[in-house]
Amino acid sequence: MNKKDTILIIGAGLCGSLLALRLAQRGYKVEVYESRPDLRTVDISAGRSINLALSDRGLKALRLCGMEEKARKICIPMYGRLMHDTAGNTFSSNYSGRENEYINSISRGNLNAILLDEAEKHENVNIHFNKKCNYVDIENGIAHFEDYKTKEAFSIDAAVIFGGDGAGSSLRKSYMDERKFLFSYSQDFLNHGYKELEIPADKDGKHQISNAHLHIWPRGDFMLIALPNMDGSFTVTLFLSYDEGEFNFDNLTSEEKITEFFEKEFPDALALIPNIKEEFINNPTGPLGTVKCSPWSYQGKTLLIGDSSHAIVPFYGQGMNASFEDVFVFDEILSQDLGDWEAVFKAYQKARKHDTDAIAALAIDNYHEMRAHVANPLFKEKRKIEMDLEKTFPTEYSSKYSLVTFNEQIGYDEAMKRGRAQDKALLNMIADDTIYTHLEMTKEELKVILDKVIIETKTILEEDKIAGL
Ligand code: FAD
Repeated sequence: MNKKDTILIIGAGLCGSLLALRLAQRGYKVEVYESRPDLRTVDISAGRSINLALSDRGLKALRLCGMEEKARKICIPMYGRLMHDTAGNTFSSNYSGRENEYINSISRGNLNAILLDEAEKHENVNIHFNKKCNYVDIENGIAHFEDYKTKEAFSIDAAVIFGGDGAGSSLRKSYMDERKFLFSYSQDFLNHGYKELEIPADKDGKHQISNAHLHIWPRGDFMLIALPNMDGSFTVTLFLSYDEGEFNFDNLTSEEKITEFFEKEFPDALALIPNIKEEFINNPTGPLGTVKCSPWSYQGKTLLIGDSSHAIVPFYGQGMNASFEDVFVFDEILSQDLGDWEAVFKAYQKARKHDTDAIAALAIDNYHEMRAHVANPLFKEKRKIEMDLEKTFPTEYSSKYSLVTFNEQIGYDEAMKRGRAQDKALLNMIADDTIYTHLEMTKEELKVILDKVIIETKTILEEDKIAGL
């Protein structure tokens, strides 16, 4: 682990650029190769501003690298969900009963740009754009690239190679091709894809709907969501089946049908999206899938990190947060001075894999919750109790959402186990009328509920443990 050795990072996306920054801060010599042009100088967004929900796990990793404040300056806090029904009625549901717990809408491009800027301030970092990795000879630690502009092929021989090249990783593909290497891989696509649309700012450059919320139009089999941008616009994402149901991506091919769909299902959103037909037809439809694989490393030569090792569906708003947390966990392992890269890589996967498997499962849970359950009366009652419990007993109760999103000191796996048991306990007790609720609950009444939830959750966790879950 000689600091003079060259470390190669494939991909200067969110994870690759944060990793480059952290390794540079630790004194390593880092070369980053990115297939796309530099997003700070060329508009690669095809005119669309794409945003993401940044929350505490991502912020923890940004803090480690001294980037939290810079990131917060380009964030818009979202305190809860605002649900829209087909009649245009709305109701809100906060993310937490604690005031300091909220998520943040942030532009992917702007966040990536500040990370690249910061990484490049270090003279031990070089970032090369328009260089696509085609293949990694993992046995010899050599990555083969092609220059997008000159079409010239070239190779980089590095002491260590990190695959920060996202869900379609070239390094992961190279692992698959290496037949002597026992590499497990799974990729599960949802039947749903996604398409991004835009609610523009009003004539004064202001947001047309609340910018303090993540908006959701839940419709059971499909849904629309919208996150605010700093320029007053919203990025709207439609999640819809490719080929099932009355309306799907395969049959929404004419302007008439697109209008019919939005008029029927999202009339209030339609009124805010003036270019719906052009955007729907011209913007790409993206697939949604979960990627799992193991091992993430080959000897001490290569390591997958971020989406390349664990791409997940976006319904918990955690993919980037998990990828940033990868850098945090990796940095913790580096601090253990294990002596060589092979030991570091193994320890990192051991510390991390169960948590990334957990967030993959939680993201699928939320796929069902967001498009259907959020409008269900039982779910609404559960959320109300949870808000009351968090507000009244802030140190004693955290909902599953809060454990996953705002409790970065525990891993995703623990958050999932505790959160699922708690959900089960609460939902069972509401359904059985074991707990009694009304609009204005007193502290004493809530304490009775809290005690029952704690006991029931403990019982469920013990049962799960015995069952080996
Ligand atoms: P990427 O961001 O994909 O970066 C990979 C980089 O590698 C890119 O710059 C790419 O150009 C480059 N690259 C790829 N192949 C090569 C190659 N062969 N050679 C060289 N370079 C290469 N996460 C959240 O936390 N919150 C959200 O709200 C959220 N919303 C999402 C919404 C949608 C619709 C989707 C699809 C994802 C969302 N995510 C969200 C997930 C998030 O986008 C990813 O988890 C995150 O981008 C992963 O970062 P990464 O750096 O590992 O991969």
